Amino acid sequence: MNTAALDGPRDVIVIGAGIFGCGISYELARRGHRVTTVEMNPGPGQGSTSSSGAIVRFMYSTVDGVRLAWEGNRYWEDFADYLETPPEAHETGVAHKVTTGLWFLRLDDALHELYIHNLTEAGVDFEDWTAEQVTERFPFMTLDTYGGPASPDDERFFGPPTGAYRGALYTADAGYVSDPMLAARNLATAAEAKGATFRYGTRVAEILTTDGRDGSARTVRGVRLTDGEELSAPIVVNVGGPWSASLVEMAGLTGTMTIETRPMRHEAHVAPPPSGVDFETEGGIVADLDIGVYYRPESGNQIFVGSTDPECDGHDWVDDLDAMNREVTRDISERQMLRTARRFPDFGIPHTFRGVAEAYDVSTDWGPVYDRTDVDGLFVAMGTSGNQFKNACVASHLMAELVTAVEGGLDHDAEPLVVEGRYTGTPIDMGSFSRNRDINADSTGSVLG
Ligand SMILES: Cc1cc2nc3c(=O)[nH]c(=O)nc-3n(C[C@H](O)[C@H](O)[C@H](O)COP(=O)(O)OP(=O)(O)OC[C@H]3O[C@@H](n4cnc5c(N)ncnc54)[C@H](O)[C@@H]3O)c2cc1C
Repeated sequence: MNTAALDGPRDVIVIGAGIFGCGISYELARRGHRVTTVEMNPGPGQGSTSSSGAIVRFMYSTVDGVRLAWEGNRYWEDFADYLETPPEAHETGVAHKVTTGLWFLRLDDALHELYIHNLTEAGVDFEDWTAEQVTERFPFMTLDTYGGPASPDDERFFGPPTGAYRGALYTADAGYVSDPMLAARNLATAAEAKGATFRYGTRVAEILTTDGRDGSARTVRGVRLTDGEELSAPIVVNVGGPWSASLVEMAGLTGTMTIETRPMRHEAHVAPPPSGVDFETEGGIVADLDIGVYYRPESGNQIFVGSTDPECDGHDWVDDLDAMNREVTRDISERQMLRTARRFPDFGIPHTFRGVAEAYDVSTDWGPVYDRTDVDGLFVAMGTSGNQFKNACVASHLMAELVTAVEGGLDHDAEPLVVEGRYTGTPIDMGSFSRNRDINADSTGSVLG
């Protein structure tokens, strides 16, 4: 373990009060730093966090990814105590994890084996289910496969089955967090109780740096807000979610990292369950890569239908986030409902469509960047790629440890920080989340929440 440490508290500006900005503010404030968090929305968690499926799962294509999610799960299981604030401080209640289990339907042997390897290495309990076991658990679901995701305008879309899933990899501890926006609010409240200040309705227009002299690195010195006000601090953390690339650009860092980020529009839908099924008790989280969809129970006996963003659907990259359409569209809703009907024969396609349309902050290899930057004092937690809500608390702890170590003198680029998991004691190598890591060739690019 690295032991570099700061000699005292510092002023820190956190840009963004999503689940990550609130979590990082809390972790820094509880270490005694004087934190100011700037958020352009009127309250916490109102950006992409508010649309999150908030699924907590453990199947990732790297062992470090699994370890992070396994450690992250423990924060959600302990969330009320982790906040270190009395329940009455949280006027609208405290978010909680609903444990449902997750079934990753078995299609591709290589992926199945990779996940078994990674779960085993990370010490995550799992079961390898047969097709018969899956059918017994979900009698209202067919295991037919159709040769991979297709668009409704492809003749294959309505064609007969070409095969069948051969079982599922099951993790009993998976689930989802009841209310992602409330979780962000809880963390903001906990951060305020530790002395952090939140400035809502305030937008950062510029990241201020001091030019490096004689070849030395530039140093961050604060931010300028849209009304011209300057806030000074020797440490700034970019947690702008889908806006992360624009904040990287503000700091003059575009093109300096191997892993870059880009916003991508994404829809998720909510629908009634198949006829006669109580999906809240009889359903579960099911990953259905053949169709390109995942399902989880939603309160009020609904199904949350997420998309794994299959190639055939294309990627809707966004140039102007402020102008992005945040309403679900008829085309995409219909497509997702038709896909759901293939999996659940008694599913009735609704006449009106409900759901969310938001942006993912997608990185080059769909893995997150939790790192410093080439500007001294400027840190980033970005590239969460539609799958890091679950890790927000553990990553906030990692980020606070990173700030402490780097500002205390650690050369993290040469000697990556290793942080011991607070709950599992697992060593987490932060080099895996470096801005300059090797691009993960095993990444499926298929997000299951
Ligand atoms: C539809 C959908 C489903 C998802 N499902 C899952 C899931 O099931 N499981 C999972 O683990 N993850 C999931 N995710 C991903 C997860 O929700 C995100 O990774 C996470 O919420 C990102 O949090 P954040 O704090 O980084 O970003 P945000 O919540 O977007 O917060 C960033 C904040 O920064 C603010 N900001 C940006 N720029 C500025 C500026 N210049 N000045 C001031 N403020 C600024 C924004 O207003 C915003 O509030 C999903 C995401 C989406 C969109």
